[in-house]
Amino acid sequence: MQQALRRTSLVPPGFVVDSAFCDADMTVITVRSSRSFGLCPSCGTVSRRVHSHYRRRAADLPLSGRVVQFVVIARRFRCEAVLCGRQIFAERFPDGVLGPWSRRTARLDCIVHHLGLALGGRPAAMFARRLMLPVSNDTLLRVVRRRSRAPSDPLKVIGIDDWAWRRNHRYASIVCNLERRRIVTLLPDREPATAQAWFAAHPTIGIIARDRGGGYGEAAARALPDAVQVADRWHLMQNASRAFLDAVCKSMRQIRSAIGATTINPKLLTAAERLQYEGYLRREETNTAILALSKNGIAIKQIVRQTGYSRRLVRQVIRGERNDVFRTRQSSLDVHLPWLDEQWGSGCRNGTELWRRLTVRGFRGSLRVVGEWATRRRRAEKADTENLQRIPSARTIARLMTFGRDNLSKADTLTVAAIEAGIPALVEARELIAEFHTMIRHKAVAGLTLWIERARVSLVASFGSGVAKDEPAVRAAITLPWSNGQTEGQITRLKLVRRQMYGRGKIDLLQARLIGAE
Ligand SMILES: [Zn+2]
Repeated sequence: MQQALRRTSLVPPGFVVDSAFCDADMTVITVRSSRSFGLCPSCGTVSRRVHSHYRRRAADLPLSGRVVQFVVIARRFRCEAVLCGRQIFAERFPDGVLGPWSRRTARLDCIVHHLGLALGGRPAAMFARRLMLPVSNDTLLRVVRRRSRAPSDPLKVIGIDDWAWRRNHRYASIVCNLERRRIVTLLPDREPATAQAWFAAHPTIGIIARDRGGGYGEAAARALPDAVQVADRWHLMQNASRAFLDAVCKSMRQIRSAIGATTINPKLLTAAERLQYEGYLRREETNTAILALSKNGIAIKQIVRQTGYSRRLVRQVIRGERNDVFRTRQSSLDVHLPWLDEQWGSGCRNGTELWRRLTVRGFRGSLRVVGEWATRRRRAEKADTENLQRIPSARTIARLMTFGRDNLSKADTLTVAAIEAGIPALVEARELIAEFHTMIRHKAVAGLTLWIERARVSLVASFGSGVAKDEPAVRAAITLPWSNGQTEGQITRLKLVRRQMYGRGKIDLLQARLIGAE
């Protein structure tokens, strides 16, 4: 429905326009209340007895490129209630229109607040000038601080974490309402005493999500002994993986000897075996080249053209069907190896002599076979020290044994198989960590007690006892939906806002901007 524009429609409800004037850059509108009475702020009695008039000035939203200034003709009323201590009171307007003593209308104040939240003090003031909003830098900050009142509903589920105010120098804490996905407060440091005092002031909190380690857990236990604590799931997963890596580090000596025994050293092969091994290496090379091309998204047709291999072979490799593992030749000597080892150990290292003794034991093979074995054995002893450098790092081994297991190259498969055969305790540790990850992912807490018992006597014992010490919080992390992941997200937001403030500004202003924006 269309209506003619009346002057009164330009001012907030409850006012009527007396007069309006404008010059080049300002519009002055004189307004008065449309009500015929006032309400005493002390006793609430209606009064129609006007004592006197006075003028109030208030800025309003700009109009057609001009700053707007209200001149409010306000009244003073006499309070007629017998028992009221107040004889005269000034006329008040609703808070949503013009607050008492306010120099801006509520609708302007709201815009100023949002400018301050979005841009901070100085940039907001510069932008406000362009928008014809007459506010200074200080005013903007004051409005942001004044309006950031903490939400009043009682806190039940919170997450607490620390963040770097200045990396490696000063840390502060952040508390989030996990139910409402809001920042509740920023604490100026990460001292347990500070957190404890804050917890004590908020007795309605029933669930506290926090990371493992650090003083938040202890602070919460002291201030709110009945609250359920929840360990952070992401950190638990992280710590579990770390524990496996530590187990690998601790086992490196055994790993070296396990791998050393199986790593193929071409020098130690017989002539026939070497031919076979070279063929294997060539095939490996082909496979890697084809797989690399296919991983880059090159079509089979194109790979055939580029490499010159047959279409069938390329397809086989890409499908993973060309999986030949290199084996040293089965030899007639195999059944006699333990005996030969024993002889070698007791000092008999002459090939001919060994062969002679073997034939007595029923060996039908030639002298050459035994001679080659003796030569290899001699070389193997010399090569042991060279082998050490080719052992992958603990980190690589941990990766090969866990995440990478489905996608191993042949050489890595051999390495992992050797480790698994040589150090069963490491396999057990891997199973334990995998089970722990599964418990968290599938929220299956039933096996936790048994898991702790087993972990405590394994290679990941220290992680196991860490979990045992914090068991209620770990249990809660597995069963409850709450997690500190959300708090980490809020820290990212906090850092973004802080960067907008060029790293300046006090913690209360930062908090005001973060909380006020919600
Ligand atoms: Zn009164």
